[in-house]
Amino acid sequence: MKITAIRAYQIDLPLKEGRYSWSNGNYVEVFDSTVVEVETDAGITGWGECCPLGSAYLPAYALGVRSGLAELAPQLIGADPLALDVLNRHMDAVLRGHPYVKSAIDVACWDILGKVTGQPVTTLLGGKAQDDVVLYRAISQIEPQAMAANLASYRAQGYTRFQLKVGADADSDIARIKLCAQAMQPGEVLVADANTGWTMHEAARVVQAVRDLDVYIEQPCPSYEECLVTRKRTALPFVLDEVITDVSAFMRALGDGAMDVINLKISKVGGLTRARQIRDLCISAGVPMTIEDTWGGDIVTASIAHLAQSTPSEFVFSATDFNSYGTVTFAPDAPQRVNGRMQAADRPGLGVTPDLAVLGAPVMQVS
Ligand code: MG
Repeated sequence: MKITAIRAYQIDLPLKEGRYSWSNGNYVEVFDSTVVEVETDAGITGWGECCPLGSAYLPAYALGVRSGLAELAPQLIGADPLALDVLNRHMDAVLRGHPYVKSAIDVACWDILGKVTGQPVTTLLGGKAQDDVVLYRAISQIEPQAMAANLASYRAQGYTRFQLKVGADADSDIARIKLCAQAMQPGEVLVADANTGWTMHEAARVVQAVRDLDVYIEQPCPSYEECLVTRKRTALPFVLDEVITDVSAFMRALGDGAMDVINLKISKVGGLTRARQIRDLCISAGVPMTIEDTWGGDIVTASIAHLAQSTPSEFVFSATDFNSYGTVTFAPDAPQRVNGRMQAADRPGLGVTPDLAVLGAPVMQVS
């Protein structure tokens, strides 16, 4: 089988809540997502999606996805979409770095492999390890009292895991964590995600102030070394996210005992092929994961569902239903949240059918 054409579509994903805010005053109001269609000489088409969290979160941005695809796509015409490891090595050989650019192509080729074999991607990734996956709700950074109020409204929607966006000043973050910890009910999980927003002394103040609460601390500081210093100062369970960019970063952190949980984002590591590799290492090493992506719509949500559902429940700390945060649906058969959980489709491939009337004309086409 050969790739005969690659098309990219741009779609705006406004938020139901109007704005998503995280550390250091960063926010996004309309997410700029790129949907990728990979066409083959067998008449089978695969779909992928990449949606960076603005331009200030990781070394990734929306125009960068499409610029990188324009560079990469011509070099993939004629490649075999079923030979996923070969394809990934080829992408790395012709475009160094930029894993997020490669992610949607890799995911689209998993979709093709599923359609060719008649199997859902869950099966291809190791098989259905659980019937559905538990979701967390990110709580956008606003005033502490208002975040606690939002937590209650998300609980009413069925969520049981909550991730507070902190990473502002230490005093207000301590208030955020204390107010929300007080509101927790039995069986619920609370994470304080600083998204690299604290310096080491701020992180030290926060973990000291909340040391008696039942809360996880996620990615307190920008660098791995700063996070490790904070890790050594606290007995609270600890999550690493932004610094876990690839296998070698994970292996180093594992060797240092630098975390209890990692956040595995599909586009951050370059697609499902690389995410599966890190997922399998995590299971072997006993490290649970939040399985998600930087952001996205229906196709990203479907990809997350397949990777998470093929992972044993004790290793899925949580996953994300990004398509419930936005106002735009472009693949109506994508997974939908039910009682704080979601289920991957049993259909071949990702099991999503993008609506071309919603996606509009492609912004890039290579054949
Ligand atoms: Mg995080």
